[in-house]
Amino acid sequence: MIKKIVLSVLLLICLVIGLYVFAFKAFSPKLALNYCAFCDPNVLNMQTFYEDELAIALCTHRPILPGHSLVIPKRHVERFEELSDKEILQIGKVIKLVNEATINVFGTASYLLLQKNGKEVGQSVPHVHFHYVPRKMGDDSTAKFLISMFLANVKPPLSPTESRKIADIMKEAMESLPPQNMPESRL
Ligand SMILES: [Zn+2]
Repeated sequence: MIKKIVLSVLLLICLVIGLYVFAFKAFSPKLALNYCAFCDPNVLNMQTFYEDELAIALCTHRPILPGHSLVIPKRHVERFEELSDKEILQIGKVIKLVNEATINVFGTASYLLLQKNGKEVGQSVPHVHFHYVPRKMGDDSTAKFLISMFLANVKPPLSPTESRKIADIMKEAMESLPPQNMPESRL
């Protein structure tokens, strides 16, 4: 008898969770087919720390390691091969600036650049984005990196306040870089 009750309660819980997930997917604007996080003004306002006519740099709300940033084209472009030569050049320049600022803020030594094109390789946001993931000197464990990557996906994301706080620190660091390094098109 008790077993039956427990099973019924479990079934009910599963049903409620299933309905909740279905309703969330059906009605959340973030899961709409044409939604792009990197074109969403709310996301950009919360996470951007650099912007020029062609490129934007923002901190991620799911950092693998401290200093994990994203560099994206301003224009909504899904894949790398759709970028113009000017955008590729500008994104490259911004990555170099982000690297300088990150070293100054987080005291990092090395960095990984990662960019995915297509769902088969795990592209989650349909807008070109380069992940910049730095590591501190001596922090070279692959296992630790893989665990950090897993945890970044399962832990709750940074709150808007936490994201903005990091973005403000990075913004200040970007603005403190030598002016000769700054692109003329910077906004
Ligand atoms: Zn977009």
